[in-house]
Amino acid sequence: MRLILLGLPGVGKGTQAKLLAERVGLLHVSTGDMFREAAAAGTALGKQAQEYMAKGALVPDEVTIGMLLERIAKPDAAVGLMLDGFPRTIPQAEALDRALAGQGTQIDAVLYIQVPEAELVARLTGRWSCPICGAIYHMLTKPPKAAGVCDACGAALSQRADDQPATVNARLETNRAWTEALAEFYGKQGKLHAIEGMGSMEGITARLMDALARVPSATQKA
Ligand code: AMP
Repeated sequence: MRLILLGLPGVGKGTQAKLLAERVGLLHVSTGDMFREAAAAGTALGKQAQEYMAKGALVPDEVTIGMLLERIAKPDAAVGLMLDGFPRTIPQAEALDRALAGQGTQIDAVLYIQVPEAELVARLTGRWSCPICGAIYHMLTKPPKAAGVCDACGAALSQRADDQPATVNARLETNRAWTEALAEFYGKQGKLHAIEGMGSMEGITARLMDALARVPSATQKA
């Protein structure tokens, strides 16, 4: 089975991709992880990717497509794929379709995890930390006892630039554009499955598994 997990930042896509890949017995491929590993290893690819990642921009298609196609051509990818963070552009999706067709396979399903906008903003802007002792809080899941004050040391909490509303909204806007374009692309192929992304992690996993059970060529282990 070859699957794509789609969703805006904050929907829990990365976590679900790992869980599902393990459950179903697929190779989890995250292009974000691959770029971060290459950057940490200081390879030429990593250096090139880092420039774009630092700006929050997409790494150019020539680089991204080549890296992904090379990865999925390796023998361990024959078990099936759980793609996470790829494709992000229509040319990437088209290149993927062509490469899989060349292997006599195809994408079986695209699982699109959806969470209401206001909830996403709350999740993504909710993180605050203590500049003195480093304690981390989240307004939804782990709020401090007194608003804006560190439980451990009493210092005023601060918010990273990445987690501030203006940055979060800009990031959502950029991601929404390509996510919706891809949803339309796979919708036309009849492969798109919308998944409700509110509620517990286990609940979302269960809904993803239910959707997979309805995929025609699904051959699940679990
Ligand atoms: P992620 O962890 O998926 O959010 O990816 C982190 C960063 O890696 C992104 O902000 C992009 O700069 C880059 N990246 C990951 N996947 C892709 C892709 N499919 N196309 C272009 N850039 C990507």
